Amino acid sequence: MHVAVLSDVHANLHALEAVLAEVDAGDFDALWFLGDLVGYGPRPNECTALLQERAAICLAGNHDLVVLGRIPIDTFAGEAGTAARWTQEVLDEAARSFLETLQSQATGEEAELFHGSPRDPVWEYVLGDAAAAAAFALTAAPLVLVGHSHVALEISNGEALRGEQAPAGTELQLGRLRRLLNPGSVGQPRDGDPRAAWLEIDIAAARATFRRTDYPVERTQDEMREAGLPEALAARLAFGI
Ligand code: ZN
Repeated sequence: MHVAVLSDVHANLHALEAVLAEVDAGDFDALWFLGDLVGYGPRPNECTALLQERAAICLAGNHDLVVLGRIPIDTFAGEAGTAARWTQEVLDEAARSFLETLQSQATGEEAELFHGSPRDPVWEYVLGDAAAAAAFALTAAPLVLVGHSHVALEISNGEALRGEQAPAGTELQLGRLRRLLNPGSVGQPRDGDPRAAWLEIDIAAARATFRRTDYPVERTQDEMREAGLPEALAARLAFGI
């Protein structure tokens, strides 16, 4: 089983299309998505349709739930709230009814999947030792896959927890230790690398590889400006912050 793990697309169609082109060029058996299809970006309907068609597992993130109205919109301050209101206005019926079917956690081969964390699948960021220790304690699968922070990360559960950011090309041998992996964000990376982030897992070969894919950032920025989305959300895409 050879899996492409994507998260946090945030309605960035050009980033998603670039990653899907690489997935198509590889020999993948499945695509798993860890949530936040919409919010921030300009093409929520197209991104939702693509992943509805392609993802074997598709989770809902906090932005998806806010746009659906399942979480109050005033949970989001500032630009996130502005973008969520814009998304509510443009979201079509097909996208809305697909998003309505999604949960924020799932189980895959050798893996447990969450948008945030096992302790709080919608909201918790796993960035430090305490959250990672809780994540391992509350799960049993060899792999724990999370999104939400937009930072590509790998944490292993050996005699002590060891974790670090996982830049492009980071390759891990799986099997001996349990691992918590965050693929980073396809559509709004926040780890200083503006390229779309995703993760390749070859379960039979026990190998995980953190990938980055170039995409035309300025096309997404142009669409955001045309839509009247907040300028800061467009500007940050060029820096991966
Ligand atoms: Zn997100």
